[in-house]
Amino acid sequence: MDRMIISGGNGFLGSYLCEKALSEGIDVTIVDDFSTSNKLNAPPEAHLIKKRVEDVSLDGNYRYIVHLAARPSPEDYIKNPVETLLSNSVGTLKLLEMSVKSKSRFVYTSSSEIYGNAQVIPTPETYYGYVSSWGIRSCYDEGKRYSEALIMAYHRKFGLDTRIQRPFNVYGPKIRYDGPYGRVIPRFIMQAIRNDDITVHGDGMQTRSFLYISDWLEATWRMITKDGIEGEILNIGSSDEITVLELAKKIVETTRSTSKIVHVAGRDDDPQRRSADIRKAGKILGWKPLVGLNFGLSKTIEWMREGDI
Ligand code: UDP
Repeated sequence: MDRMIISGGNGFLGSYLCEKALSEGIDVTIVDDFSTSNKLNAPPEAHLIKKRVEDVSLDGNYRYIVHLAARPSPEDYIKNPVETLLSNSVGTLKLLEMSVKSKSRFVYTSSSEIYGNAQVIPTPETYYGYVSSWGIRSCYDEGKRYSEALIMAYHRKFGLDTRIQRPFNVYGPKIRYDGPYGRVIPRFIMQAIRNDDITVHGDGMQTRSFLYISDWLEATWRMITKDGIEGEILNIGSSDEITVLELAKKIVETTRSTSKIVHVAGRDDDPQRRSADIRKAGKILGWKPLVGLNFGLSKTIEWMREGDI
């Protein structure tokens, strides 16, 4: 039986990946410190090691090591900059060392954040980024950038089979919506369901391109299992840009909410536009997103309405 380590396997993306791997007959070990989880999401069939990824050291043979552990929500990582950097520097190093020892395939979830305030839209993988090395988002951006550099060094120096993906704003049922953990979609839906004000940052003209969870999972599974793509770096996202203000209006309409849209202070260093050039993933994985924003939002709203919001 193949074995897989998933760091961050109790998180939003990680728990979907964990279920998929288990359903494919893989023996899964999760490493997760629950720093951004408020509950157990991991299926009981997975082995759970409740530790920070940089504190873990596992012997044994693992066919795959997938490094997802991170704090992706800006309001949360800005408050926890040191922890954010460590899991994506020391943590990445620890997992790479384990991969070399056990000759595992190493798959890394980087981020569209490595492009910073991108000046080329849609952004291809060849774009180097427009990133502050010291600003408030640098703990996330530079951790991911350092990890990419370290992974490529291990690939070149030790011939490690590595794959790096850069996901762009993934959303869907099971995403966290509360407090600083709530990314824009679940936060706006929560506000709309409660008929609270929808808090658009600044003028709301900044854009994002959202990817539904099932599309992310399909691309990720292909990246993990496909032979002959070692050393590849792929954007996994969508090129359909929408402004935050349009998104707010769409969510108010879809939920038939009486919420008012209000403009509050914008975030410092907020990337102004984000859209993925996904032609490379199309060619290499034969993949493209299948779920449009309207359908994805309605599924997410349905799931949130069933909860105790
Ligand atoms: N945003 C907003 N109101 C909120 C939360 C987020 O207008 O209550 C905006 C935020 O400023 C950014 C976009 O939505 O421009 C996406 O924010 P998110 O927290 O989802 O993460 P990001 O894509 O910036 O990593």
